[in-house]
Amino acid sequence: MAEERRMPNVMLRNLLEAIAEVLGENGLKAVLNAAGLRQFIDNYPPNNVELGATFADYGAAEQAVEDVVGPKGAKMMLTRIGRATFRYALEEQPAVLGLAGVALKALPMNTRMKIVLASLAKAATKDVNQPTDIEEHDDHFLFVVSECPCRWRGKKDKPVCFVTVGVLHGALRWATGKNFKIKEVSCIAMGDDACRYRIDKEPLEE
Ligand SMILES: [Zn+2]
Repeated sequence: MAEERRMPNVMLRNLLEAIAEVLGENGLKAVLNAAGLRQFIDNYPPNNVELGATFADYGAAEQAVEDVVGPKGAKMMLTRIGRATFRYALEEQPAVLGLAGVALKALPMNTRMKIVLASLAKAATKDVNQPTDIEEHDDHFLFVVSECPCRWRGKKDKPVCFVTVGVLHGALRWATGKNFKIKEVSCIAMGDDACRYRIDKEPLEE
């Protein structure tokens, strides 16, 4: 097992709030039981940015959603949970997203995408203990996350970070009003050096 690594309390809090929204209060209870995280039943981590939560607990909660929902529905549920996680983070601690005071009005879409991705990457690196970079290519961006709770979820043969995919969907939708194709193309849980998310620049048809 990888050594302990910490993240802001509000990160785990927002994930649990999002799980409760998508799966219901009883669904969250089942997830917390399956994850070995009973201490959080009716007792979310506090709404602050102190490094009191662990990557291991965050990963355990994600894994437990997959275990409770089953492999078929897990991808969709985790992506929905990621979108909701973004919304709770924006409401409770926009600073952990780097989006406090970001002004996007009247900017072209590509610039909005770049600003929001760069803001998320900067905040992840600085405030979330999760070193992150972005790369711009002709028709897509890569969002490159060098440390991730998935390291604590055991070895996988497919990418598993659908919560992050959902967070990116939520952030880009917030910034542009559009939906984009987003795919995790490498994953630390598979033994890769980083979790990389490929984001098409062209929005999906509505
Ligand atoms: Zn991953």
